Order: sequence, then C-alpha cells, then structure tokens
Amino acid sequence: MILTSNNTSELNLDDDAENTQNYASIQSEALVSYEDPHNLFSSHLSSLITEFGHKSGLIYYTNPKIYQDETIVADGLILNDTQFLQYRLTSQGDGKNLAAQFDIDAGKIAHVKALQFIYTTDLSWEKLIEISLKYQRMDVMLFIVGLSWPLQSEQFISLPQDNQIEFPENIRIIRHNLFADLVGLEDNYKMQYNLIIHYCQSNNIKALKQILHSLNNPLYTNINLKDALKRKGLIKNKIQEFFTSGDNKPDVREIIITVKCPTCQMTKKIGFPINLINKSKPLNTISIPAQLVCDHHFQAFVDQNLKVRGYQKVDVVLE
Ligand SMILES: [Zn+2]
Repeated sequence: MILTSNNTSELNLDDDAENTQNYASIQSEALVSYEDPHNLFSSHLSSLITEFGHKSGLIYYTNPKIYQDETIVADGLILNDTQFLQYRLTSQGDGKNLAAQFDIDAGKIAHVKALQFIYTTDLSWEKLIEISLKYQRMDVMLFIVGLSWPLQSEQFISLPQDNQIEFPENIRIIRHNLFADLVGLEDNYKMQYNLIIHYCQSNNIKALKQILHSLNNPLYTNINLKDALKRKGLIKNKIQEFFTSGDNKPDVREIIITVKCPTCQMTKKIGFPINLINKSKPLNTISIPAQLVCDHHFQAFVDQNLKVRGYQKVDVVLE
C-alpha cells in the first residue's frame, strides 16, 4: 500500500474548530440532499474509501474544488504528488494488469497532479461527453466510474469522439470493479464496496440509507485538501494555484474536420492544429490546396464550434 510521510497527521485535527465545523456542515448538507440517489452513492463510496485510507495511508478528498469556477465539483480526488498512480500501475501484484486495463503508460503521466473521480449510473454518450467537457484538465486524470455497467465482458468504455474534448488522454471510463482495484480495496472493504454497488444497481435507496450510519466517518473535504497543499508547500492561498491554469500553454491539439469540395463533391477528413483557428472570429477561412482533398483548390468557412458553414471555389491560384 502507499505510505506517505505525512498521512497519519492528516485527520488528527479534531480539536481544530474550523475542521470540525467543516465535517459537520458536510454531513448535514449531504443529509438534506440524499433524495438524489447520486449523492447517496457518492457519500457511501467517500466514507468507505476514506475509512480504507486510514488503514492503507491513502487520502481521498470528497467534493474537491480545483476549478476557477467552484461550482464545478467532482465526487472525489486523490493527489498524485506522491505518484500514487505510477505506484499503482507498477506495483508488484496487480500493477501490470491495471496499466493494461486503464491503457495508461506509467512512464507518460508525469503531468498528472491529481486523480479525480466522477460516479455515474448514466453511461449514455451524451452524459459521458457532458462529464468530460465539464471536468477535463490537462494535468488531472479523470476517471468516470460506471456504477452500473451495460457490458458483461468489457471493463471500460472508449471515450466518445468529440472535437471539444481537449484532453482525451486524461479521461478513462471504467467499470466499478476497476475503481476498487485502483484504490486497492480488499477484504472487508471490498465486500462493503460490492454491497454498495449492488444496492446502487438495484436502486435500493432504502438499504443504502440504512447502512449509511455505519459509514458515518468524517471525510477529507476541500478545506483539508487546501491545508494539505499548503503544508506541502505546493500553494500559498488557493487550491487552483497547484493546477495549470489551462491557458498558459499553446494549444497544440489537432482537430479533424470533414470537408467537401464544392466542385467535384469529393469528401475528406483533414486534421490541423486547433490554434490555427481564431476563436474570436465568427468564421475562419481555411484554404484547401489542390491535392489535399482532390484536384481542386477551394476554401472552407469554419465557425467557432469548428463546424463547416460553407465553401467557395478558387478560380485562380498564383504560384
Ligand atoms: Zn474537387
């Protein structure tokens, strides 16, 4: 299991008024909204993984706020400054298997500062794209955990193709058992986890509410996350300082659009760097040289959503 030097001191803050208050408010806040099944599932999983963490040294933060917009809140977060993910993907027992299942190369994730988790029972493409667009970041690995699962054999679902998903390499859609494996749940914790999943899948809200009191642990919340980052010297004031703001690096993604020659109707997918598109202009004109799609040289007009809005023939090309 992962053991970091300072994990034992993390929750020994019960005499700290601010923290005590924080736990209390989280608990009552959650109680109010348990009518939403998602909150019920999420609270159970948070409680269970937090409790497991006391044993294993893992610190799981519930409802972290890492975005400039603090209304965007994931279900959970694990910091990766201790290289938790690399450790799990290379550990003696199941590391290789995990790396293969997640399709993540432990040598290529130095940029990952944290893992975020979203639990969902809705695995429709619309939902997966919505979650991806909302939570994607260049320095965070996002795990969308399917609490129910449509397929018997497969352990993960491929990310839907969408031009607006900027960091597909940082997003994984995984079956609930893979999440348990990633965290490293075992023995009694694994049994409790499977029970929670079972109740989620059968939508047995009554049973979930009944077992809730047995999992009523204090959680590590956003305040604890901020404290931890401060203590580690990774931020001064705001959690957001720790994460790359997202606009201080050139955007080197490639986008792919389908264009159609206005003369001969030949269609082709073409890829080019997205930073060639000026997002402040309603329409960008792209010149398609002869031989790229067909024998003709033409122009395509692309709007801010990267949709082609029209074409124009080019009659004369001066070399
Ligand atoms: Zn043509």
